Amino acid sequence: MTLDKLPRNLPQAMWRGVRCRCPACGEGKLFRAFLKVADECPSCGEPFHHHRADDFPAYLVIVIAGHIVVPLILMVETDFHPAYWIHLALWLPLTLGLCLGLLQPVKGAVVAMQWFLGMHGFEPAMKQRLALMQPATLEIRQSGA
Ligand SMILES: [Zn+2]
Repeated sequence: MTLDKLPRNLPQAMWRGVRCRCPACGEGKLFRAFLKVADECPSCGEPFHHHRADDFPAYLVIVIAGHIVVPLILMVETDFHPAYWIHLALWLPLTLGLCLGLLQPVKGAVVAMQWFLGMHGFEPAMKQRLALMQPATLEIRQSGA
């Protein structure tokens, strides 16, 4: 792990996770299959095997997709009153597409959040990251930047 590749804050680490990249270096792939997190980063070797995303990404995807699809359904029903088969033809593919499309990026963001915050076995990685960043932070404070 080198200082120049480390994320500076939680949003940067989570954005790397959304892009399905290693939160530590931003280069290696975070997933080895659709929802299988790699045991370690193929680029920097950061271990991911102890992540505990569990069902949290699925809950978040349900909340996000629900907040997109339900207002659209209500708007279309209120304005156009289409037949039920049209509702089915519109919202089922949209809902499935949104859920499948969001699941991997959201899971990547959750794993990256756990990594950045030192949760579930990521504590040694967080301590190592903080130890690397400490001298740089001191140099910035001393130079007055
Ligand atoms: Zn990496």
